[in-house]
Amino acid sequence: MHTQPATDSSKPQAPPLLGHYINGDYRLGNGRRGPVYEPASGATSAELLYAGESEVAAALDAAATAFPEWAAQPPPRRAQVLFRYRELLLRERDALAALITREHGKTLDDARGELQRGIEVVEFACGIPHLLKGEFSDSVSSGIDSWSLRQPLGICVGITPFNFPAMVPLWMFPIAISCGNSFVLKPSEKDPSCPLRLAELLTEAGLPAGVFNVLNGDRQAVDALLAEPRVAAVSFVGSTVVAEQVYAEAGKRGKRVQALGGAKNHLAVMPDADIAAAADALMGAAYGSAGERCMSVSVALAVGTSAEPLVAALAERARTLRSGPGARPGTQMGPLVTAAHRARVLSYIEAGLAEGAHLVVDGRDARVPGHKGGFFLGACLFDQVSPTMRIYREEIFGPVLCVLRVADLDAAIALINRHEYGNAASLFTRSGAAARHFTRAVHVGMLGINVPIPVPMAFHSFGGWKRSLFGPLHVHGTDGVRFYTHLKTVSARWPETGGPAGPDFSLPA
Ligand code: NAD
Repeated sequence: MHTQPATDSSKPQAPPLLGHYINGDYRLGNGRRGPVYEPASGATSAELLYAGESEVAAALDAAATAFPEWAAQPPPRRAQVLFRYRELLLRERDALAALITREHGKTLDDARGELQRGIEVVEFACGIPHLLKGEFSDSVSSGIDSWSLRQPLGICVGITPFNFPAMVPLWMFPIAISCGNSFVLKPSEKDPSCPLRLAELLTEAGLPAGVFNVLNGDRQAVDALLAEPRVAAVSFVGSTVVAEQVYAEAGKRGKRVQALGGAKNHLAVMPDADIAAAADALMGAAYGSAGERCMSVSVALAVGTSAEPLVAALAERARTLRSGPGARPGTQMGPLVTAAHRARVLSYIEAGLAEGAHLVVDGRDARVPGHKGGFFLGACLFDQVSPTMRIYREEIFGPVLCVLRVADLDAAIALINRHEYGNAASLFTRSGAAARHFTRAVHVGMLGINVPIPVPMAFHSFGGWKRSLFGPLHVHGTDGVRFYTHLKTVSARWPETGGPAGPDFSLPA
């Protein structure tokens, strides 16, 4: 059994070379390559080979060959592989979390949490025999019964972002393969080691070779996958600009597609809320994973008189937040994923200052002793942000929380509903009436009441509205099963003495 991705042993001093996982084994290929960083030190931890035409063809050939036999397996037998996979993920939990932390930068606890959310999707997919049960109607007409079944689509593709190298792929492939599809995953080129290991563990769980393949690379691999007629469905998660392109391109080629994009999640705090509890909740939601979560809260809407105590409580907490390497016990916030991303977040802080927002806590000079080259940025807190500012309108994806002061709950709701993104929103209040009004009026896909990050469990579905999701179906839960299957409805008659008497040229009235 491989315990490490394949390496080029002829260069012992060089960073390891990572490739792809195709047809049940590692494959290097000899195409373009790019660095994988260790954000806590800034060092290059590996070189990643980017898939070109031949690797894309090999992955698709493997998936196409494996599909018919896998699709023909009874769902309970497919579920057995997932039961074993769950055990292996639990066995390997700490090692997988360490891979995530090394290449992403988030804390080990957070990495374990992401893995746990992914394992819950595997657990959901273990119930696939039940989830694929069709509907049956006895006697829809004289002697005719009607029933439905769900059948796999063929080759499904997942294209995933850097910020959840385990959880987001796990949103997709356990359900896709349990439904009888084969799968090609194109993970982020920034943190490929965990997805490769997830593939290897599927082989160990007994998944036939070729049912699940990992193709590393960049846009070139994505374009080749989208252009491929054998690909039946595409699940994308990433930034909105790319999500929209993938949605249009895959849709144009007749593929089924769901494309989840960026976010700007608001958390509104009513004057009647427990302000200390709201500030604590905001800290984790805004600065956890250095703000690199699609469910991060990047906007606090301070309603009425909550503003002064809320900003004071946030500032006090942000100033003492512990930045450091994700693997160090006690670290609350790790580095950003790359130096380029750090520079992008810094440019937003400059933009906020230039547009007149008040930078109450400035984390730009945060230093982590012993980690001079790391991509660290301390917590930043802006007050007096207005809806026209870029730091409010655009997704920053870093440890930057913007406070907007609003007069009342309806002003908060109006702001949320005017924003181009509609991923998630939360309200902190002690009023049931306010909570009910907010719940019904707000245009987002995921909503929290006194819950800062309202991530749906695996047996519900995850997705936003507006420019946070292109396509009608959310990921995992029953929407996932719908997405990865064709629905077929059968009308059956078994006449004892031949068919109806003569042809009938009209619909039955
Ligand atoms: P990204 O859009 O840069 O990359 C996502 C994937 O697309 C990667 O696999 C990447 O290799 C590929 N890609 C990048 N540019 C491409 C292009 N031009 N054409 C084709 N493929 C391309 O996103 P990211 O920086 O990795 O992740 C952060 C983004 O993902 C944020 O916007 C975040 O909000 C979003 N996200 C959304 C959700 C959600 O559920 N809505 C979840 C996680 C992350």
